[in-house]
Amino acid sequence: MSTEYLQPKSWGELKEDLQRLTEKSVILAGGTDLMPKIRSGKKEPNLYLSLCRMEELKAIERQGEWLKIGAMAAHTQASEDPFIRKYFTALAMACSQIGSQQIRNKGTLGGSLANASPAGDIMPCIFLYGGKIEILGENGIRSVDAESFLLENGCTLLGRNELITSILLPLEEERKSCFVKLGSRREVTIAQISLCISWKEEDNEKKDMKGFIGAVDIRPVEFEKAYLLGENSEESREEAAAWLADKIRGIRSNRTKESKLKITEAEKLYKERAVKGIVFDAADWIERESTFHTGKKGEGKL
Ligand SMILES: Cc1cc2nc3c(=O)[nH]c(=O)nc-3n(C[C@H](O)[C@H](O)[C@H](O)COP(=O)(O)OP(=O)(O)OC[C@H]3O[C@@H](n4cnc5c(N)ncnc54)[C@H](O)[C@@H]3O)c2cc1C
Repeated sequence: MSTEYLQPKSWGELKEDLQRLTEKSVILAGGTDLMPKIRSGKKEPNLYLSLCRMEELKAIERQGEWLKIGAMAAHTQASEDPFIRKYFTALAMACSQIGSQQIRNKGTLGGSLANASPAGDIMPCIFLYGGKIEILGENGIRSVDAESFLLENGCTLLGRNELITSILLPLEEERKSCFVKLGSRREVTIAQISLCISWKEEDNEKKDMKGFIGAVDIRPVEFEKAYLLGENSEESREEAAAWLADKIRGIRSNRTKESKLKITEAEKLYKERAVKGIVFDAADWIERESTFHTGKKGEGKL
């Protein structure tokens, strides 16, 4: 079987090529998820639609009240972007901790969202900011809320002849955020649990705190008691951790159908207990955040 390789360089070419995709075709971005599947024989594409020459899809730019991040922006690029570091710190932190340096240089934000892995670090951040996903299809570009974009484990509402062109994040000047993750190692680790929090700083108080926890269910789970982390006391941290542990316990006991997540009982129990560690880490970040986004590249985790 011969394999075709398409590399559009313009919107016109991209739209045309997109209509050629069949059930056996693949869209190729950085290839960090896709290529291992192809090499192992899990996928045998007859046609590759590579986005690597679509320069416009790599841009990160402000558009009025939104930040537009091209689907082909790589994790390194996003983690070093001054705008993302300042206004979407949690996302910059998440991108700076993905895989290894090589994975961060090749892997893209669009690929991460299309991949829709429950252990992915990007989706919880996009949920946190109330982001939108722009999708190119036969009838042009449509925009959907990230929460409706993600259907379930590995499944999004992307149709066969559609692709992600960009991610839109609403700009709120005074909103701050942070991301913490617990993995089995410091580098090249898949999240066991991740937590992202955002808040507004008003009159020396933290207001409107929001949070999402990743890698505990097929979708990022809302941390409804995130406000507890703004109270800056040992008791409120303990209460937040207990609430999240309960939430995780609830997820596993409420699950009716067989989970595709393949998390063992021991891992689930571990997550329930380990959540305390990331809650305390997040609370520490929140306390010292004011010095964080102005930090130089390479400082701390950013
Ligand atoms: C060793 C290793 C460590 C990793 N560590 C982490 C980690 O710590 N955290 C984390 O979140 N992820 C991690 N990943 C997962 C991976 O790096 C990310 O999901 C990555 O960003 C995928 O992007 P990509 O550009 O490489 O996608 P590709 O591999 O090119 O594509 C992935 C999937 O998305 C589709 N796709 C790609 N771009 C688009 C688009 N614009 N529109 C529609 N469909 C598209 C492809 O067809 C494919 O199905 C790791 C992967 C590896 C191999």
